[in-house]
Amino acid sequence: MTQSNTTISMTKVHNFSAGPSILAPEVIEASIAGIQNFAGTTLSLLEVSHRSKEFVSVVEDAQVTIKSLLNIPEGYEILFLGGGASMQFLMLAYNLLEKKGAYTKTGVWAANAVKEAKHLGLVEVIASSEDKNYNYIPKGYTIPSDADYFHCTSNNTIYGSQMKSFPESPIPMVCDMSSDILSRQVDVSKFGLIYAGAQKNMGPAGVTVVIVRKDILGKVSRAIPSMMDYQVHIKSETMFNTPPVFPIFSMLQNLKWVQKMGGVDGMQKRAADRANLLYNEIDSNPLFKGTVEIEDRSQMNACFLLTDETLAPKFDAVWKAAGISGIVGHRSVGGYRASMYNALPLESVQALVYVMRNFNA
Ligand SMILES: *Cc1c(COP(=O)(O)O)cnc(C)c1O
Repeated sequence: MTQSNTTISMTKVHNFSAGPSILAPEVIEASIAGIQNFAGTTLSLLEVSHRSKEFVSVVEDAQVTIKSLLNIPEGYEILFLGGGASMQFLMLAYNLLEKKGAYTKTGVWAANAVKEAKHLGLVEVIASSEDKNYNYIPKGYTIPSDADYFHCTSNNTIYGSQMKSFPESPIPMVCDMSSDILSRQVDVSKFGLIYAGAQKNMGPAGVTVVIVRKDILGKVSRAIPSMMDYQVHIKSETMFNTPPVFPIFSMLQNLKWVQKMGGVDGMQKRAADRANLLYNEIDSNPLFKGTVEIEDRSQMNACFLLTDETLAPKFDAVWKAAGISGIVGHRSVGGYRASMYNALPLESVQALVYVMRNFNA
């Protein structure tokens, strides 16, 4: 790639950022358009009431679109909350933890979920992959039927592992899907609660989507502060306080884009194509090796190392020159992490694979 034409080099940045992360150009354009002139009001969406009919219809449209994309059955509510997925670690425990919560500990985020729930009561870690620096997904554990709920993390963003299937749970199953929601089909009816920060696969940072089955709520004896209470937010149709208006609007643009691209099936196919291409290169190129057990590899975050780490400065110079951005691994794993969220085109993975294949040490 030449650096002489800035327009070309700018459009050729391959954005593998782990989050906040890539959005389709048309989603960004539609977001800008809403800031300039919202729904024909000639006002910016940044300066109108969240209770205006135009914005209420954005919220409703986003709920309906998520419902349709994920095939959400009756009995579930969809909330758009602030505070990130990290606030849900605490909020879900406020609402569900009476006697104890059962957790799998499969990475940093899962460990944070455990830590926060402990503020509210007893937590039992029923399976963990901490013994091998979280490089696999534990299996064959028993979910205790005397716990109030079972919590798992579908995709471990930092370590690059992903649950390929979900257990049958005798108690409500709660899942942090922040980094793989909308990238594959899931049977929502198996879950009591799903939550996801938007900034990996759904939109910009600032909004967290909560999908909750109403009948699991209202069973704890504690008094729940209003902002922490799902039922309060449900009653006020996710407008108990001012919701994050811009992130919701921008997320809606992305949901429409996902729909146009073939919905979750379309995203699943894109994810498989990208992941197969990259993992094939990692496995066939002697200069690289993967860090995660093969059967548990994430289709969203591929972690890999140079077999000879002294080559890092040379390799880093090559991928940077090829317009690749954001593949430096998290400090707890080292090496490289290519995050391949919904909006990442296959072309970007082809560019990375090309660099890897032609890297001669
Ligand atoms: C990024 C991430 C989080 C943290 O999300 P915030 O919105 O920053 O709180 C939690 N869980 C998973 C799986 C993540 O990938």
